[in-house]
Amino acid sequence: METKLTETVCSVCGTKSEHAVIIKSEAGGVPDLDLRPSEPHRSSMEYWVMECPECGYCNGSIETPAEFDRSYLESREYKELGGIETENKLVSRFVRKALVNIKNRDYIEAVQSYVYASWVFDDEGNDEQAKECRNEALSVMENSSVFDGNENMYLLRADLLRRTGQFEKVVSDYGERFFESPIMLLISQYSVKLAKNGDSSAHKISDIPGIKFE
Ligand SMILES: [Zn+2]
Repeated sequence: METKLTETVCSVCGTKSEHAVIIKSEAGGVPDLDLRPSEPHRSSMEYWVMECPECGYCNGSIETPAEFDRSYLESREYKELGGIETENKLVSRFVRKALVNIKNRDYIEAVQSYVYASWVFDDEGNDEQAKECRNEALSVMENSSVFDGNENMYLLRADLLRRTGQFEKVVSDYGERFFESPIMLLISQYSVKLAKNGDSSAHKISDIPGIKFE
């Protein structure tokens, strides 16, 4: 992976700051069921979110316009991460990005941001808070229209439900669910099988019988 320092102007406060951005990344291995990439992509996560050193605006790029003013960044919700307690700076940035995405009504991106935060907690072995972030992702899904024409989101929901121990829902909602893409159908059916076994751990896509990675 190669990164490069780039001067960026914050769209909320106008402050210039330098941020490392990825200019080249290598092809990775087999992803997890929620499409979490394997190494070397995993270690690139810190470059997926920028934070303005002046006002605290977090987004994929802080040049992305915000549909709110600086006062939101000073709100309790933003400062206290909507109730998620952590000392981990990367988690804080992903959760703040999720809150920003919701304010900007970019719900798919908000779901992804919470999922990224859950991955950082997974790596810390912090299961309870990883679960909290997955539940936040599920709540964004349920309160928006992210599933409209987006089968990927609906499939991701199966993994979020399973990883948060909502096994019955996985079985009832996905047991008979058809996906046109054969790979998505295999992932969905595998999730149902894991849910029936009460398995809430991370699995690789290559664990699924019938899916081969070269
Ligand atoms: Zn700023």
